[in-house]
Amino acid sequence: NLFSEIELKQELLQGLGDLNYVKMTDVQKQSIPYILQKKDVIVEAQTGSGKTAAFGLGLLNQLDVKVFRLQSLILCPTRELADQVANELRKLAKKIHNVKILTICGGMPYGPQISSLKHGAHVIVGTPGRVHDHLLKQRINFSNIQSFILDEADRMLEMGFKDTIDDLIEKLPDRRQNLLFSATYPKEISEISNHIMKEPIFIKV
Ligand code: AMP
Repeated sequence: NLFSEIELKQELLQGLGDLNYVKMTDVQKQSIPYILQKKDVIVEAQTGSGKTAAFGLGLLNQLDVKVFRLQSLILCPTRELADQVANELRKLAKKIHNVKILTICGGMPYGPQISSLKHGAHVIVGTPGRVHDHLLKQRINFSNIQSFILDEADRMLEMGFKDTIDDLIEKLPDRRQNLLFSATYPKEISEISNHIMKEPIFIKV
């Protein structure tokens, strides 16, 4: 039940200590062991369940800071949520030096995003449309992505992002971990997960 009992990088355990996260939430307890084994995982859970730290610890634990290339892509339905996720990741990663986490969201000016992308990032948290825009303009390189996370997948589909997400998935490297978080699990979501996941673990909290 305790973070101190799981195999995490020392820097992450320190970060958790600073945040006063001691006990895992239900979602974390059930999903983190599989996430750390790099399994594909589907989690049906609400916001407030601690899902951000569940996938955040997983991706940060396997991140290699020395490799300054995009290693993880997280898609969120809105800018507010992407900002929230990025902030939580930055807090968790506080003790890992030089991790670059970038938000790439619609409704924001292109100029600063273009220059940030030129400088590079280890992790991108973004909304599907804008990430797709930059990808088509070859400002983002997907070839070293190790983990792909869909956060609040049901809301992204409600917002009409299905085709954009499908197209982004086409461009991801085949060998990667997929994590999908959703408050509900309608047929459209199971279609996506059937399409992208290999022997997924299904967790419902
Ligand atoms: P989330 O479901 O990811 O939006 O997280 C809900 C809130 O719970 C966030 O504000 C986190 O900072 C906090 N949180 C996540 N995991 C833990 C934990 N194990 N202990 C205490 N707080 C946590």
